[in-house]
Amino acid sequence: MTSNQELFQHAQRVIPGGVNSPVRAFKGVGGDPLFIAKAQGAHMYDVEGKAYIDYIGSWGPMIAGHGNENVLAAVHQAVDMGLSFGAPAPAEVTLAQQICDMIPSIDKVRMVNSGTEATMSAIRLARGFTGRNKIIKFEGCYHGHADSFLVKAGSGVLTLGIPGSPGVPDAVADLTLTVPFNDLPALSEVMSECGDDVAAIIVEPIAGNMNMIEPLDGYLQGMRDLCDEHGSVLIFDEVMTGFRVAKGGAQALYGITPDLTTFGKVIGGGLPVGAFGGRQEIMDYIAPVGPVYQAGTLSGNPLAMAAGSAMMKEISSEGFYQQLERTAQRLTAGLQAAADAAGMAFSTRVQGGMFGLFFSQKPANNFSDTSDESVETYKRFFHEMLDRGVYLAPSAYEAGFVSSVHSDDLIDETIEAAKEAFKAL
Ligand SMILES: *Cc1c(COP(=O)(O)O)cnc(C)c1O
Repeated sequence: MTSNQELFQHAQRVIPGGVNSPVRAFKGVGGDPLFIAKAQGAHMYDVEGKAYIDYIGSWGPMIAGHGNENVLAAVHQAVDMGLSFGAPAPAEVTLAQQICDMIPSIDKVRMVNSGTEATMSAIRLARGFTGRNKIIKFEGCYHGHADSFLVKAGSGVLTLGIPGSPGVPDAVADLTLTVPFNDLPALSEVMSECGDDVAAIIVEPIAGNMNMIEPLDGYLQGMRDLCDEHGSVLIFDEVMTGFRVAKGGAQALYGITPDLTTFGKVIGGGLPVGAFGGRQEIMDYIAPVGPVYQAGTLSGNPLAMAAGSAMMKEISSEGFYQQLERTAQRLTAGLQAAADAAGMAFSTRVQGGMFGLFFSQKPANNFSDTSDESVETYKRFFHEMLDRGVYLAPSAYEAGFVSSVHSDDLIDETIEAAKEAFKAL
C-alpha cells in the first residue's frame, strides 16, 4: 500500500510543492498533506484507509455531501451523450435558467470553468462597461489568482504570508486599490478621491478567505450607495457564499442587489464550473452581443452543466437550508461549549452551511483583528482534530463548511473530538 508520505515525496518531485493548489500543502498548519483516495457522504478516506469527517467539502462544492446519488446519476447520464461539443447544448440553458430563477439580481449569466475566470471576466466587463481602469478590493478578500486580485489577498496568499505576488506587473497592481474590510469611512474616502475612475468595487459579501467575517450593519448598503453615486459597478464575489449561506446567496441574506455576481464552487456540484451574471444592460456588453471579449473552449461543458444542474435541484429541496444551518449551529454551539469548559478563549460565526472558528474572545471583523497567537493555536487545534479523524481547513484563514449529510451523530462525534483536542492544547 502506498503511504501518504511516499506519495507526498513522489508528488514533490513531479509537481511544484507536491500540490496543484497551494493551501492543500498544509504549509499554514505544518506537517504533510494527506492523499485522499475516495470520499463518500460526510467522509474522506486517505490512501492509508483512515476516515475523516470532512469540514472542507472540496472547499465548498460538496454541500450535499460527497457522492450525492442524483448528481452522480446526472453526470453518468451526460457521459454517455458525449464529453464536450464546443457547440451550444441544452444543459447550458437549464443551468442558466436555474440560476436566474434563484438569484433575482441575475438577468443573464455566462458560464466559465473556475471562480478565478468568473472574477477576472467580471472585472474586464466592468472596465469595458464603464470605460474606467481602477478597481477596489478589500484586504484579506480573495477573488482567485488573476493578476488584478493578488494585492493584499486572502486564502493561500495570506496563509503563506505572500503580500502580493511576483509576476504581477506593477502597472496592473497599481490599478487595484485596497481598503480594509468593514471600514465604510475608509471606503468613502477613497471613493471621494477617485470614485469617478473606479470601474468596480469587488467584495466577498461575507469574507471567507480570512476565516469568516461578516459585514457590519449597513456596510454593504453603504458600498451600494457609493457605487450608485459614482457610477461604479458593484460586484459581489459569491464564489464561496453563493448557494452556501442561503439559497439566494449573501445578497439575499442582506437584501443588497449587486450589479454583477460571480459564482463557482457549489454551482458545479464538484466539477470545474464558474459563472458571472447580473443586470442585462451590463451582461449584454460581452461578446457576441457587445464588444468585451470573453470565451472558453470548455465553458458550459455538458458534464459540468449536468452536475451543476443536479446540484441546484438538490439545494432547492424543501428545508435544505434550514437543515444545513441547524447542523452548522449544532457544530458551532457544541464547539463553543467544549471550549468554554476547557477555559479556552474561543468564538464562532455561522451562516447557512458556512462557519468560522476563532481562537479569541470575539470573532474578528477584519483582517487586522486576527492575532498571530490565535493563528498558532489554530494550527495545534487542527492537528489535534486531524489525529482524531476530523478534517478542518489546513489554515486559520479559511472558513469551514458542513453538508446536508453531516448527521447529528457525526457532529456530536466531532464535538467529542474537540473536547479532547481543547484539553490537549
Ligand atoms: C474560491 C474562490 C475564488 C476562486 O475560485 P477558483 O475556482 O478557485 O478559481 C474566487 N473568489 C472567492 C470568494 C473564492 O472563495
